[in-house]
Amino acid sequence: MMECDVLVVGAGPAGSGAARASALAGVKTLMVDKKKEIGTPVQCGEVIGLDLVKRSGMRIPANAIVSRQGFTRFVLGREVTIDNSEPYWRGVTVERKIFDKHLAFRAASAGAAVQADTRLLSVKTDGDIVKSCLLSHQGDEVELSPKAIVAADGVHSTLSKELKAEFFSPKDVARGVEFELVAKKDIPQCMQIFIEPEIGLGYGWIIPKGKRRANVGVGLVGVNASRRSFLEDWIAGHPVVSRYFDVDKVLEVKLGDAPVPGFLGGPVRGNVLFCGDAAGQTLAFVGEGIMPSYICGGLAGKHAALLSQGKEQRYEEDLVEHMADQLMMGAALRDTLVELWSSDGWDGRTRSLLSGAVMNELVSPDDMMHHLNALVKDPLSAFKGLVKDSRRTIKVKRC
Ligand SMILES: Cc1cc2nc3c(=O)[nH]c(=O)nc-3n(C[C@H](O)[C@H](O)[C@H](O)COP(=O)(O)OP(=O)(O)OC[C@H]3O[C@@H](n4cnc5c(N)ncnc54)[C@H](O)[C@@H]3O)c2cc1C
Repeated sequence: MMECDVLVVGAGPAGSGAARASALAGVKTLMVDKKKEIGTPVQCGEVIGLDLVKRSGMRIPANAIVSRQGFTRFVLGREVTIDNSEPYWRGVTVERKIFDKHLAFRAASAGAAVQADTRLLSVKTDGDIVKSCLLSHQGDEVELSPKAIVAADGVHSTLSKELKAEFFSPKDVARGVEFELVAKKDIPQCMQIFIEPEIGLGYGWIIPKGKRRANVGVGLVGVNASRRSFLEDWIAGHPVVSRYFDVDKVLEVKLGDAPVPGFLGGPVRGNVLFCGDAAGQTLAFVGEGIMPSYICGGLAGKHAALLSQGKEQRYEEDLVEHMADQLMMGAALRDTLVELWSSDGWDGRTRSLLSGAVMNELVSPDDMMHHLNALVKDPLSAFKGLVKDSRRTIKVKRC
């Protein structure tokens, strides 16, 4: 039942993208996930940028979409808001439980076998090549010998550990925590990103899931406090967030880690191709990973299929052609943000304003210092001037 040429480990967006592509290439494909139910539990803000959906050629099923957002609002230092409706900042919120299962369904419909409640335990290698994989399948141990393997097993990848191929260090991982909350009153129908010294490098967010429901969370980098109490205190003490939410109607608690290492390409070890979070394939300046993982997973699956047929694989090359622009842009912005929040000499307010200016591409990292004085002195006028010069669809207001 479980014999296969390509084994895909993990049935998140990366795994389902890979399994579908491999099955469509006509190769016997099996996708496994340790979860009893694919898509559950959710560890995600669930917002998807429409730009990359277009690039993927995929349609998000209507029953997975719970909210549509025509712009993203940046709240900088609790002082200035920037409403950005450039294409990258438009999105939808999905129920990932429905969305991930839909992606797995598409992989299965393309011909891949899918097994939930099936965990990769360990591998046996001969040099670089994985010869066999030991799996626990609904309680029973099974040994398989696929010709190629796709490692789509997330940020704490078992395959990376087994092969001693860890591509990023814990300092390149943001710690996320999020509550799905019921609001006290109608919330703005846009994603809100909070950049402020109270959080530091990283950010807070409100992602609507309807008029009075949202994912409210924080992604923390280099903060070791308890995530839940940090989030509870942040919500209660925040002048904007507490306008809409108390922490008294919690529908779900979502905890997870997001890799933000910057651009690592399409890593391969022997006959194992890594993709998605396992390969750090997120837009690193915001940690957006759903669509990047799905697209990169598709490429990994296509090339794993070639490898299993004894042909040459060109995963890295294909990835650079199709996704390097986005992943490298995210990496460059991430490097600037890390620099901003780790260099001496700036206070938190200045860092927040500059981060907002860079993330909205109103100033480039190279010339941001030219705008520093104006931004600090009168942020509202300075941002308005930058928006006018940039001719972007952005509105600036006092918070
Ligand atoms: C708090 C938080 C909020 C986020 N918000 C957003 C957002 O709003 N928008 C966005 O685009 N991105 C967001 N991300 C990032 C996004 O969730 C990930 O980038 C994306 O899920 C990566 O997909 P993936 O398929 O690579 O990994 P995953 O979705 O993590 O899937 C990996 C799968 O592998 C399985 N697995 C792991 N080990 C094994 C094993 N040994 N055997 C079998 N199966 C195994 C897991 O069960 C899991 O199902 C967020 C991340 C966090 C932590």
